[in-house]
Amino acid sequence: MLGLMQDHPLLISSIFEHAVGNYGKQEIVSNTVEGGIHRYNYSSWGERTKKLANALKSLNLNQGDKVGTLAWNGYRHLEIYYATSCSGLICHTLNPRLHPDQVSYIVNHAEDKVLCVDLNILPLIEKASENFKTVEALVIMTDEKNMIKPNIKDGIKVICYEEFIKDQSEEYIWPQLDEKTASSLCYTSGTTGNPKGVLYSHRSTVLHAYGMNLKDVVPYGAKDVVMPVVPMFHVNAWGTPYAAPMCGTKIVFPGAKLDGESITDLMNAEKITISLGVPTIWLLLLNHLRESGKRIDTVKRLVIGGSSCPRTLFEGFEDEFGAEVIHAWGMTEMSPLGTVNMPALAEEPKNRTEYYDQKIAQGRTIFGHQMKLVDDEGNDLPEDGETQGRLLSRGFWVLKEYYNDTTEKDRFLDGGWFDTGDVAKIDADGFMTITDRTKDIIKSGGEWISSIDLENICVGHPEVANAAVISVPHEKWEERPIVIVQPMPGKSPSKDDILNMYEGKIAKWMIPDDVLFTDLIPLGATGKILKNKLRDQFGGHKIS
Ligand code: ADP
Repeated sequence: MLGLMQDHPLLISSIFEHAVGNYGKQEIVSNTVEGGIHRYNYSSWGERTKKLANALKSLNLNQGDKVGTLAWNGYRHLEIYYATSCSGLICHTLNPRLHPDQVSYIVNHAEDKVLCVDLNILPLIEKASENFKTVEALVIMTDEKNMIKPNIKDGIKVICYEEFIKDQSEEYIWPQLDEKTASSLCYTSGTTGNPKGVLYSHRSTVLHAYGMNLKDVVPYGAKDVVMPVVPMFHVNAWGTPYAAPMCGTKIVFPGAKLDGESITDLMNAEKITISLGVPTIWLLLLNHLRESGKRIDTVKRLVIGGSSCPRTLFEGFEDEFGAEVIHAWGMTEMSPLGTVNMPALAEEPKNRTEYYDQKIAQGRTIFGHQMKLVDDEGNDLPEDGETQGRLLSRGFWVLKEYYNDTTEKDRFLDGGWFDTGDVAKIDADGFMTITDRTKDIIKSGGEWISSIDLENICVGHPEVANAAVISVPHEKWEERPIVIVQPMPGKSPSKDDILNMYEGKIAKWMIPDDVLFTDLIPLGATGKILKNKLRDQFGGHKIS
């Protein structure tokens, strides 16, 4: 027997209507690419989004067509998010830090019909556009006064965003779509092989937003002020553009200025209460706060994830600045949230040391998502806090296949499980710790060494700005770890200084065999260490 409850589809347009209808006065503030702060409220956002949806109609798009964005976090980007998805188009966010060849590869693979681009990203489009195969229109996200005529491939129509929406109607009745309709598209950064598309649905997006707003996850509230520092092209700013309007939260977009000083000043000017970003961004912020003596006293919570986080970051923000650091793990393929580190009442730590020991773990799964460990043959492994294995994921907002790409079919396993490519351990209470990515773990004499653990210890040295651990081939042990260190500006720690950091913290055989120094550890487009590049550069190093 079926239940007798209503069966409304879970649609992004329902988040939009709820936000605009109930929180019209709440602000959306943006640090603009043109310069200066733009400020309006949910009500005006609603009107302009509907104008944009009407304007997009004039481009002869069909349901399911993709509108690409190459843009920083800002109000126009939010308008595009909703005008596209709510009207049945797909919002495809691209990373403006990619190489022009990667941009044209992704645009062509996704078959984007329209691209919406921030002014300062136009040089990238000018380089990439010659190879575009499907793009018919380029919308430049600015007004007439700041409009630039770009030098792009003939035949692509160039449109000024503000002119495009100016005379449009503020009325638009969103279609009642099937909740499984595709809503947005995001490509993984492709550190191995080509980038792969993850095609989110309305249903997965709404459920993920609900998941984010559970009390022990991120949650937003109508009295919060959220600043997503994580870009809207990095897994939809981790879901914030949906989860925040769902709760009528004031949003502050930082635009293209992500340095410590700009972030600090905006946090203070707008009284941010919660912010999200990757460790590299929070390290910049922490260093700036320490150097400048400034405070961020309104900030209560900082959500951190995307790559492993050194313990010193948790300690720095919590002990010195009173902001709780919430450690989360996820990936593009999971919308992205999988786990959050929020110990339960029965797990209260006894002291600060134990508290930070707990924080390092990636945490417990969120309701709506499940995970387990398997060995290389796919057999289940025990969750005893010791055994390491391949981490599998499934749930309401996890992908079931990549978009038009079957090259990694073997990651989709029976029972709906997806192989995350991470190696992890899980304890009896469900607390998961990432050991490494499968391709980065160091296999030494049949034992595994976590490159993440070794990096986290090394960056604890006050003269180290960043560190990466890779393996080099070894005759006897098969692989051995070496650590590559980027010193703080003006500092030159010695090899022994670095190796001493490991004494007493890990087993002796895990200590790196050598220390190499570099001016800059290369970071990818989402702020993660590019280990491939380091392996190319240092992988042939002979241990003396
Ligand atoms: P990409 O796979 O393109 O790097 P994602 O942002 O999807 O982009 O990255 C997901 C991966 O990032 C995860 O599989 C995991 O290896 C890593 N990651 C994410 N959050 C954390 C975290 N809190 N700690 C350690 N690693 C993390």
